[in-house]
Amino acid sequence: MAQLSDDCFAHGGRLMRLDEALALLEARIDTIIEVEQVALSEALGRVLREDVVSAVSVPAENNSAVDGYAVHFADLDPEAETRLPITGRAAAGHPLGRSAGRGEAIRIFTGALMPEGPDTVMMQEDCSLDGEAVVIRPGIKRGSNRRLAGEDITAGETVLRAGQRLRPQDVGLAAAAGLTELMVSRPLRVALFSTGDELQEPGQVPRPGCIYDSNRYTVGALLRGLGCRVSDLGILPDRRDSVTAALGEAAVDHDLLLTSGGVSTGEEDHVKAAVESQGKLHAWKLAIKPGRPIALGQVGLTPFVGLPGNPVASMVTFLAVVRPMILRLLGGRVEPPHRFAVTADFDHKKKRDRREWVRARLSLGSDGRLIARKFPREGAGILSSLVEADGLVELPEDLTRLESGAIVEFLPFSEVTP
Ligand code: AMP
Ligand code: MG
Repeated sequence: MAQLSDDCFAHGGRLMRLDEALALLEARIDTIIEVEQVALSEALGRVLREDVVSAVSVPAENNSAVDGYAVHFADLDPEAETRLPITGRAAAGHPLGRSAGRGEAIRIFTGALMPEGPDTVMMQEDCSLDGEAVVIRPGIKRGSNRRLAGEDITAGETVLRAGQRLRPQDVGLAAAAGLTELMVSRPLRVALFSTGDELQEPGQVPRPGCIYDSNRYTVGALLRGLGCRVSDLGILPDRRDSVTAALGEAAVDHDLLLTSGGVSTGEEDHVKAAVESQGKLHAWKLAIKPGRPIALGQVGLTPFVGLPGNPVASMVTFLAVVRPMILRLLGGRVEPPHRFAVTADFDHKKKRDRREWVRARLSLGSDGRLIARKFPREGAGILSSLVEADGLVELPEDLTRLESGAIVEFLPFSEVTP
C-alpha cells in the first residue's frame, strides 16, 4: 500500500505564504502511487508515468494534403496554363502502385500516398478539366499541398512525457504513434468525510438548525475530476471516538483521507484530536483568503487533509493546496495553472502579506477586453458566489489596495477543475 514517510507535514506553526506551503509539499511528498498499464480508452485524465517514444513516423510516407492532381513541378509553365494528361488515380489507402513520370498528372485525394515522381499537388479548385486532361493555372510553389513523411511525428521521437495528465489529444497522439496501452498511475483511493452535527444528507426532511452537506459533493466532484476513486464515507458526528474510529479504519485501504469541517480551534472540533491520537497533525495557517486553516497530517502513514468547513473556503483551499498535492502523489508534473490578465471592475482593500482570491464573473468590455466583476457577497460560506463566478481574481501578497480599472490576474475555474 502507498505510504508517506513519517511526519512529513511538520512545520513551525507560523502563518505561511502559499508559495512556502506549496514548496514544502513539493519537498516532502513523493510519488507513492504504483503504476498500471491501461488501454488508451481508459487513459483520459490519468497521469502518465513513462515517456512515450513513437516507433513510427507519422505520416509514414509522403501523402497528399488535398484533393487534386499530383504533378512534377518541373512540368509546370510558370507563366501560362499547363495541360497534362490524367494518367492514374491514387486515393487514401489505395496507392497508385507505380511511379509517375514526367508529363503525367495523377488524380489524387487527401491522405493518398504520393506516387514516386511527382513533388507537387495542385488543388482541384485551382484546375479545370479538358477531356482526359487537367489544365493547371500558373503560380503554384514546388512541394505545395504535399505532406512530408514524419512531419507530425518522427520515428524515435518522444511524443509524450512522464508526469503529464493525459488530455484527449494526448491519447490520440499515442494512438497515432501506434500504441495500444499506456503506463499510468493507478487511481488514488480517497476516503472522503464531512464532519458536523448540523449536517444532514440532502433529501432528508430538514431538522431544526441543520443544513444539507454540500462540501462532500463539491469536494467529491473535484476529486473525481482528478481521476480519484472516491469512497464517500458520509457525515461524521462531532464526537472524538466516532471520528477516531472512522479515520483509523479508512486509513487501512486508502491513499488519502479527506475531511471538511472541524479543524478550527473551537472546542467542538474533534478532528484534530482524532488524528493526533493515531498519527500526526499540523494546522497550517495559510496566509490566504478565503481558506486559512488547513490541517495536514497522517493517520498511521496515510496522508490526511482536513479542509475548512465553510463551503467556499473548502473549495478554494482544495484547489490551492490539495489539487497540487494529489498531482504530486500521482507522479504528475505540478505546474502553476495559467492566469490571464483582465481588467478589474471593482475597488478592493486587502491585508498585506495575504493572498486573496476574489470571486468574479467575466464579461466583454466595449474595447473587446475582458472585465472581471466581483460577486457582491464575499463570505466564505456563500456557495452561490462560486456558482455565479467564472473564476478567481488573484491578488498578490504585497497588494493592499486595488482600484477599478487595474489589470489583475484571473484564474478561470476551467484551468483547475475538470
Ligand atoms: P467548522 O469548520 O466545522 O466549524 O465549520 C465552519 C462552517 O462551515 C459552519 O458554518 C458549518 O456549518 C459549515 N460546514 C461545515 N461542513 C460543511 C459541509 N459539509 N457542507 C456545508 N457546510 C458545512
Ligand atoms: Mg463543524
